Amino acid sequence: MSTATSTPASAGDDDTHRSDVDRSDIGGTPLEPAALAFLDSIPSRLRVVRARAARTREDLPARSGCEEDMRLGEAAQRVWDAETASARALAARLRALAALIESEGGDCADDVDTLRAAMALRVTHGVAHRELLAAHRAVDQLPRTLARLEAGALPSWWFQKVLRESEDLGDESRRLLDAALTAWPADIPVERFLTLLRALVRLLAEREKEPSAPEEALPREVELTPDGRAGTGAASLRGPIPEVLAFWKRLDETAHAIQAAQRSALREGTEIPYDLDGIASATQRPVPLDRLRYDLMLNAEFDTDGVRVPAPRFRLNVTVPAFTLLGLSDAPGMLEGTIPLPPAVAREIAGGESVWYRILTDACTGAFLPLPPDRYPPTQAMLEHLRLRSSTCAVPGCTRPVSWASEADHIEEFFHADPVRGGRTELENLHLLCWQHHQAKTAGDLDPTRLPVPVSGPEPGEGRGPGRTRWRIGTRGEQVITADDIDLGTRLAVEDLDRAWRAFVDRRTAPPPPIPPPTSPPRSPIPKGPPAQGEPAARDEEPGSSPYEDPPPF
Ligand SMILES: [Zn+2]
Repeated sequence: MSTATSTPASAGDDDTHRSDVDRSDIGGTPLEPAALAFLDSIPSRLRVVRARAARTREDLPARSGCEEDMRLGEAAQRVWDAETASARALAARLRALAALIESEGGDCADDVDTLRAAMALRVTHGVAHRELLAAHRAVDQLPRTLARLEAGALPSWWFQKVLRESEDLGDESRRLLDAALTAWPADIPVERFLTLLRALVRLLAEREKEPSAPEEALPREVELTPDGRAGTGAASLRGPIPEVLAFWKRLDETAHAIQAAQRSALREGTEIPYDLDGIASATQRPVPLDRLRYDLMLNAEFDTDGVRVPAPRFRLNVTVPAFTLLGLSDAPGMLEGTIPLPPAVAREIAGGESVWYRILTDACTGAFLPLPPDRYPPTQAMLEHLRLRSSTCAVPGCTRPVSWASEADHIEEFFHADPVRGGRTELENLHLLCWQHHQAKTAGDLDPTRLPVPVSGPEPGEGRGPGRTRWRIGTRGEQVITADDIDLGTRLAVEDLDRAWRAFVDRRTAPPPPIPPPTSPPRSPIPKGPPAQGEPAARDEEPGSSPYEDPPPF
């Protein structure tokens, strides 16, 4: 507990620890005139920030109420030390990342920079891009605050907060923020730091606005986010609060009206309105409001002002192993190749469809078997196959799904003038790329080579393996190899069959069990059935001694 010492100090507190801003030279670098003018223009509570007293490693045990207990006090100091090391490590990480940005201007890492960062951090393309942007901001726009982090004088969490809270500010505003932050001691309570930081960021954001700033600047968007729980996803709507509230109210009032109508229909025994899935009839209660709002949104018709919406380029793919459909395996189904679906959900979806598409995979490895080559442009069937082979953009680390806005690309270029000379329009020479990476490849920043498909592996009986592509990234030859997606169910089934076979062989070759001592009771007279052909006749086993007693279920 630290309540005794963490009472927020106000600007008027008596204090000797840190005084007003040293105007000429903060953090070792003289302030530019623009920064000095800015500091003059902000309220003094944001400019003159004082702490009651310094907070040091030495007085930590006393401040955190564990001076009586040496062991606890030392543990607290070790945490303090670990945090100081984290702060320094964060600064080093940000500097290293910023050095990776080669593109002109520096403020917008290009695709090659991002791919390099993704490979070094071992994260997805999107995460790497955000990290690079943060590094650029830290090094170029928050240099004084970064220097304090590097010296272990600012907690790493505080710096992360500065980065996050100032995300929407312009570059120049972030530089002004840096100048103001330098005058804030890290000895103030964290709650006060956050309050002041948010106030300062708000003030900078207000000043960035045009005088006639419309609320257009506020985001208006709907986002799709898999929410992590098995088999569900979420779409969230974000916009100016009056508009979102008005929408919510309309939706909610509609749901209430329907529920009231359902209740009276149930009372009077008349037909129940808007009972889409028969929930009200089955339960004899009105449909819950949550479900009604969901059904209303899901079934809403869009007013497109006469614009004809083309049919989707691809159907939404749910790949379900046949054994899962039969209820014989618990291998998950996959939605768009990336989102696992519990077997029960996959079976339910499959059960509700009138058409299934059978996909052939290699019986041992699960690799999707190619369809015959065809003409340019690729046929719909080829596109469907490519989409199964890689459900996201083929570039390593890119997570953009190919079902929305992908482009089929010839790995070895197709020559329109002389098709015989260029790469062929066949599955082994095609892949799907997101629009950005297609451009990067056309510009020569990415150079893929399709590697020969392994036809048999080291194990006898292994089949056609998943195909692989080697990528050269940038112009200086970093290389990374990616493998195609495979069907998840096949490998599990092969492993099951393999285990069953080994168990069978072991049983045939194992030495006979020791002869029971003569005093043991006589064995059950129940006959065990005739021995299989060729099997030793005198074997005597306890029932259930092997999980593979029974033949496999397929
Ligand atoms: Zn991509």
